Amino acid sequence: MTELCTLDLLYFDGVENEEGEIRAIFIPNSCHVCKTMRHDSESGSEIKLLSCSGCRMIAYCGLAHQKEHWAQHKDLCKVVQQVLRKEGRPSLFNGVEKLNLSPESWKAFRYNLMVRVEKALTRSMQPYEQEMFLYPRVCNQCRMDDGTKLNECPDCHSFFYCCDQHLSITHQEWCKDLKLLLDLNIEQSKKGRIDCMLPHQLLETFEEFPASLKEFLVLRMVGAMGAFAMGRNSLTLLTEFASYPLTVLWGLQEAAKLTDGIPHLGDRKSLVVHIVGAELPFECNNLAKWDVFFLNTLPALKSLYVTFTGPELTGVPAGTWDDDLRCPHCERNNKHFVCDFQPNTFYHDFVKSKNYIRPDVVVAFNCGLYRQTGFQGSDSWAKTIPCLLKEGVPLILTAYTAAEAPLDLKRLQEASRDPLEILMPPQKNPYRSSRPCRNFVSEEESPIIFKNQYITVVRKQSIK
Ligand SMILES: [Zn+2]
Ligand SMILES: [Zn+2]
Ligand SMILES: [Zn+2]
Ligand SMILES: [Zn+2]
Repeated sequence: MTELCTLDLLYFDGVENEEGEIRAIFIPNSCHVCKTMRHDSESGSEIKLLSCSGCRMIAYCGLAHQKEHWAQHKDLCKVVQQVLRKEGRPSLFNGVEKLNLSPESWKAFRYNLMVRVEKALTRSMQPYEQEMFLYPRVCNQCRMDDGTKLNECPDCHSFFYCCDQHLSITHQEWCKDLKLLLDLNIEQSKKGRIDCMLPHQLLETFEEFPASLKEFLVLRMVGAMGAFAMGRNSLTLLTEFASYPLTVLWGLQEAAKLTDGIPHLGDRKSLVVHIVGAELPFECNNLAKWDVFFLNTLPALKSLYVTFTGPELTGVPAGTWDDDLRCPHCERNNKHFVCDFQPNTFYHDFVKSKNYIRPDVVVAFNCGLYRQTGFQGSDSWAKTIPCLLKEGVPLILTAYTAAEAPLDLKRLQEASRDPLEILMPPQKNPYRSSRPCRNFVSEEESPIIFKNQYITVVRKQSIK
């Protein structure tokens, strides 16, 4: 049995391809081409979707769209048909309900099927094709896949069950997020990338950051009217941009309340931020967000220096960014903003280099410190961890799930040479992103996850 590859599929994420365009997304109860849903929640109307008779894994609103997609679907469909013939089954998930699979085995079942089919294909699968295997239209409880007997949740259209007994109560916890994810996927599939402008508000007096990111964004940055004009989907994407810088600020604010020796956020005149394990599509997808949410929200802050390091940071030239990334406010107010990129570089190598400037805060977003196979199957964190704590400044970690956050902390404690001062034990982060992502690897814990959902703040214990 192939081992579950934990990293690549852990958090099945972006809907953008390498060119920044919206990629094809698999939505099990819609036409793959035009995304017309089986049930239209607005009109209440229902259409009969045509399931591909070859593989029974993908559906269309009619022959025209099936034909349109056939050239792309053909080779995968044929491989699936070979498997079905060999095993004498009408569909890949047929009869799964009789196997009584545990959550772990059910994941392995889907994953192994996907690997098997991919091996027989002469190319690697597209993300939407992987989604066909990982998130099929089956009963959430028993996994039976007889489409004619499956009901769907009328609210989120993303949850399927064969009978009332299999309609789980825990679904209520995720229904709203699944609906938001569906809405985002449909809007982006139909219209392309959703525009999301960064706010251009400049805050002139320092006020404490409130207890939620949305509250801060709506009340202090874009205004209620602005938020209404943006629409929910666009605002959701804005929370994802904002979550990275604002999590740092909120973490620093709370840490300063708890201990001596950390300056009050409103008094900071300059900040050097080290972002460890950075990746282009997440931390650096919009560099202006660092300016807007640091320099525009902290009136006293005059200078911001952000260094991005990481072995998975690729596609950017090394060194400080030449372009002036400041917004007009910061230019007028003579505020300085420097972005420094250290691509393909481990943090433990960076700290020894001439480019190293002592940080005021070190951050590792959604880091998975606990994973021993985080980077190309090897454990690079062991060397990095002592460096994260070296200067005794706050170290902010974020994690996706409640299970991961304490594991990250445990790893930190084990690998650190010095005792740690826990400024904020693992807890839900009020500045997490609101954009839902599907989670495969720990789906039984939470089928939906958010960037920066949990936060932990520590530093090296100072010697008194
Ligand atoms: Zn269609
Ligand atoms: Zn097919
Ligand atoms: Zn069932
Ligand atoms: Zn639902």
